[in-house]
Amino acid sequence: ASGYPLLRDPHYNKGLAFTEKEKDAHYLRGLLPPVVVSQELQVKKMMANIRQYQVPLQRYMAMMDLQERNERLFYKLLIDHVEELLPVVYTPTVGEACQKYGSIFRQPQGLFISLKEKGKILEVLKNWPQQKIQVIVVTDGERILGLGDLGCQGMGIPVGKLSLYTALGGIRPSACLPVTIDVGTNNEKLLNDEFYIGLRQRRATGKEYAELIDEFMSAVKQTYGEKVLIQFEDFANHNAFDLLAKYGPTHLVFNDDIQGTASVVLAGLIAALKLVGGTLAEHTFLFLGAGEAGTGIAELIALEMSKQTGAPVDETRKKIWMVDSKGLITRSRMEGLQHFKRPWAHEHEPVTNLVDAVKAIKPTVLIGSSGAGRTFTKEVVEAMATFNEKPIVLALSNPTSQSECTAEEAYMWSEGRAIFASGSPFDPVEYDGKVYASGQANNAYIFPGLGLGLIISGAIRVHDDMLLAASEALAAQVTEENLESGLIYPPFSNIRKISAKIAADVAAKAYELGLATRLPQPENLVAYAESCMYSPAYRCYR
Ligand code: NAP
Ligand code: MN
Repeated sequence: ASGYPLLRDPHYNKGLAFTEKEKDAHYLRGLLPPVVVSQELQVKKMMANIRQYQVPLQRYMAMMDLQERNERLFYKLLIDHVEELLPVVYTPTVGEACQKYGSIFRQPQGLFISLKEKGKILEVLKNWPQQKIQVIVVTDGERILGLGDLGCQGMGIPVGKLSLYTALGGIRPSACLPVTIDVGTNNEKLLNDEFYIGLRQRRATGKEYAELIDEFMSAVKQTYGEKVLIQFEDFANHNAFDLLAKYGPTHLVFNDDIQGTASVVLAGLIAALKLVGGTLAEHTFLFLGAGEAGTGIAELIALEMSKQTGAPVDETRKKIWMVDSKGLITRSRMEGLQHFKRPWAHEHEPVTNLVDAVKAIKPTVLIGSSGAGRTFTKEVVEAMATFNEKPIVLALSNPTSQSECTAEEAYMWSEGRAIFASGSPFDPVEYDGKVYASGQANNAYIFPGLGLGLIISGAIRVHDDMLLAASEALAAQVTEENLESGLIYPPFSNIRKISAKIAADVAAKAYELGLATRLPQPENLVAYAESCMYSPAYRCYR
């Protein structure tokens, strides 16, 4: 593009940063004011603009505007100010954005594939302006964060996740494709909302649902090849496990809620053990919430314990207990349990609520993966603090409104002894004259690096050992200094370096397992990963 259309193309637009030479060569004279500014100055100005907004959703919209106007500047901002802007483009604000997506929708940021597109998905994929796709994040909107069924408005999630693939993991923006599959919604409020942007019908299920997904999965492989990474995101658990099992053997797929979350939590636990002592197998785990996140994490912990001790996974699972909406998952409930809960049904008398379960099981680690806010009550945290010198408490549910407890509550109710991390970020809190910083246990630490590792090795399948490799790589990035200040995750400010390390270890595992197709294997995988990462610096146009 040149001239006026160049200024309107977000991939090439530089705003006031076009040089004199570029103005002459590309018919831009007179279309811009006389100044020529640096990208750094543009960043400074945009940050000042964004900080003026007090309402988080306005900050989100300002960022989306920028992405639609000047993509490189958007990523430069996000990379240079990642800790400040992550909560804007990602959890918690993205949750509110999805809830209001119908009202704030302006430009398509991804592909909408609804039941109306049945039989035409190959053509739909051709309508997308980019064809060299490496990563797809797809949702059907049924379980958006802890906010439930948001139908077609779940699009904010794939869009947000993919912007992190680029900013945190260095995947080229043009290689990223956000997709929302719309089979309807069971959310009455949306069905009655005149601004709702999705199909106005209840969710299709069964054969109709399966056929649309299957058409999508085939079309994607046919269009982009077998090495395109497909990340399932925020599907309800009655589909999520089945989709992963169905497509795992034929596609490069992974479910971020099940596997990404597992990897990030395991990393935090490996780091936390340096503070509390003992091996994984010496700890006892209790989960509130036995869905995708909870059972996914539990399974990876059990696998790691098994690798460390040599005991079979059937044995190591016994150190892990789960509470769902009906209480402690026990043998006596076996009959009525969904298949993913069954491995966690251990012998125990019935317990109907969390406090009693905590008192009965006496866990050293308490993990919230329920999507239900305010469920780690004072009584629960105090109980954890009575039999643990340093109770590990992870409140994973997003957004902030659904967090099982706040950072302040965790420290206050444990007299400052808790080792706490949460899915959405909390500011440092002061308790009894001391400042406590808490880490963010969020899969955003893992999926960008994992994805980069899969891509640079040309991996054709995702393997559990790659998730373990990613966990260890992340845990190794937690410094003594981080741990001393209570952080079981490294700061996000170093995330691109961290992602490169994760990518290198994931890629190494892919080569080791014979799942890599990019041959020969690069000698220095960290350097190779870094060299593959997208840079948002402006290009010179000649
Ligand atoms: P899910 O598959 O729907 O599972 C939710 C589980 O929580 C179910 O077992 C459910 O019980 C249980 N539950 C719900 N309300 C409860 C209550 N009041 N008391 C006890 N148990 C309750 O959802 P998910 O995919 O695991 O996600 C759960 C939450 O984790 C969401 O808020 C999500 O945002 C968060 N998450 C965070 C991250 C992260 O990186 N930090 C990653 C993924 C997910 P029943 O089975 O009995 O209904
Ligand atoms: Mn998710």
